[in-house]
Amino acid sequence: MTASDLPLMAARTSVLAFAQRLVRDRLVVGTSGNISCREGDLVAVTPSGTDYDTMLPEDVVVVDLEGTVVHGDLAPTVELPLHLACYRRHGAQAVVHTHSTAATALSLLRDEVPPVHYQIAMFGGSVAVAPYATYGTDQLMENVSAALQGRTGAVMKHHGTITLGDTLGKAYDPRPPTGVALRRVAAGQCRRTSRHAARGRDRAGRRGLRQLRAAASLTRAARHRDAPVPGADNAPSF
Ligand SMILES: [Zn+2]
Repeated sequence: MTASDLPLMAARTSVLAFAQRLVRDRLVVGTSGNISCREGDLVAVTPSGTDYDTMLPEDVVVVDLEGTVVHGDLAPTVELPLHLACYRRHGAQAVVHTHSTAATALSLLRDEVPPVHYQIAMFGGSVAVAPYATYGTDQLMENVSAALQGRTGAVMKHHGTITLGDTLGKAYDPRPPTGVALRRVAAGQCRRTSRHAARGRDRAGRRGLRQLRAAASLTRAARHRDAPVPGADNAPSF
């Protein structure tokens, strides 16, 4: 079978292209983060533990809405339940999950991202930060699903972001680009927090700086493929 004969070839090729863009845009580390899109009653989704730079269209797994693998030899991402919930509960046609460093740092500082910029408002209003739960679990799926109520995006505490769209292009770059608007807010928040901490003006500032340092530590550890951080989804296979 040639690539052009693959079932859902267009969807699998598109998933591959956006997965590689995640790496280029530094929204993931290693093989972390995942992407999927729906076509009819099937979903094309990135596999677990596969380097996106060397991945082929046939490595993209096709599952049904219950999660049963229909096409492909690899295991789907462990975050598949989260993706399927977005299709079943939130009417998504495409899902992008990143491990954006800025959004992860932001998630340590806030429980909600206010619509301080129109690009944030385009997610449907303030963006909720879903409480932390271990990757791949039903609890994480429930936490994120609740944060997505009435929204097309959410921040995942200690973890990253998730965005939904009618197409992969809109889920990835719905004007606001995934993570770009959140990165701007994060950068502003982090600078303000750092300034306060540097001046020793308030306890919140010093606490914020400690959290930022913790986030930086998480990021450094995440770059070390063999040293995932306990309690954080930084292992290379998700
Ligand atoms: Zn993840």
